[in-house]
Amino acid sequence: MDKQLLFTPGPVNVAETLRTAICKEDICHREADFDALLAGIEQKILSLFQIRKRERYRAVVITGSGTAANEAILSSVVGDGAVLILSNGEFGGRLHKTSVIHNKKTHLIEMPWGTAFDMPQIAAYLATHKIDVVAMVHHETCSGMLNPLAKIGALVKASGALFVVDGVSSVGAEMIDMEAYHIAFVSSSSSKALGSYPGLSFVVGRKKQFKRLKHHSAKTTYLNLATFYTFLKTHSQTPNTPAVPLFFALDQALTDILSEGVLKRHARIKARADLLRSGMRRLNLDFLVDEADMCSMLTTVQVPASVSVHDLRARLREKSIIIYEGKGCFAGKVFQVGNIGELSDDDIRYFLSTLKDVLLTLQADAADLVIQVRPKQKLRAVSPVPSHVRVVS
Ligand SMILES: *Cc1c(COP(=O)(O)O)cnc(C)c1O
Repeated sequence: MDKQLLFTPGPVNVAETLRTAICKEDICHREADFDALLAGIEQKILSLFQIRKRERYRAVVITGSGTAANEAILSSVVGDGAVLILSNGEFGGRLHKTSVIHNKKTHLIEMPWGTAFDMPQIAAYLATHKIDVVAMVHHETCSGMLNPLAKIGALVKASGALFVVDGVSSVGAEMIDMEAYHIAFVSSSSSKALGSYPGLSFVVGRKKQFKRLKHHSAKTTYLNLATFYTFLKTHSQTPNTPAVPLFFALDQALTDILSEGVLKRHARIKARADLLRSGMRRLNLDFLVDEADMCSMLTTVQVPASVSVHDLRARLREKSIIIYEGKGCFAGKVFQVGNIGELSDDDIRYFLSTLKDVLLTLQADAADLVIQVRPKQKLRAVSPVPSHVRVVS
């Protein structure tokens, strides 16, 4: 099979250094080799976040994709208290769905997908409700929109609640300053902007908050952050059998990022996004959200009239290019192009020229169809407009 170019927001094409790392020797996770491996990964994660007061933070690594880290946070930090989920997309919705399973007092402020939050509304809600934890997605991958950590972090701090953030699709591409934004816990995963294989996730948190977790009664066994913290602190290990080869690969991915330089890596991903976006604008494509609000790892593009996303994906796949299609209320209306992992500038140029050819072919086919059979107008499905704001408590 030809090598596929993954223009997706994860999984990604991994670097050769990672292919080698994942095949390292067999080690036992209850021996000193693993303790050292995990300790190294933890230190590298703290460096990735550029935490200044490092002694105040810790990072636990979980075998499981990003959702595992999110579920670990939502099941471990709320206790008997109340949590407010801020959602403006698919992944905010998943946080809510996960939280209601674990937390009786789950509140929700929900905006239509791809719509920015209303700060005065959030401030008013926090002023009139007793909320202990606020959870939000940083990069809402369904729309490509970055949510404002600094502003929301300030509101949450003023209210006295804890701020927890899903950074699954932004960490490695954008800076999350946990100290400046008053964030207690951030989740992320191995297989998006960090560029490694899928299967691991992690939670970075303030040590003080990790310590307090033991006062809550456990809601899960496997994903209990308090247990992860105890094993980390006492043995530099994980509570259960970890996917050790993936730890070798994650360690290598972090080593590669740190040797390039975190900010240089971010700038390189942004430069690739700029190349991709200017090329797509030249093809007269429109984006779903303003470029200023986008994460630098992903571009969400409106499907041109008379083109079906399904056909577009299929034609690109024939040329070894893999893209995403929109989900939920964006299904059929957008496609998504990621620019993380081992993609070169040549790969981006190949993508743009192939996209151009494919769009021309599909539009020409559609024009033929109109001439031959004159189908009714409106080739695109219209899905219901989501409710404006839904507050559920
Ligand atoms: C990918 C992603 C997740 C986790 O999804 P998995 O299927 O568990 O990898 C969570 N949040 C966001 C914002 C994501 O993009």
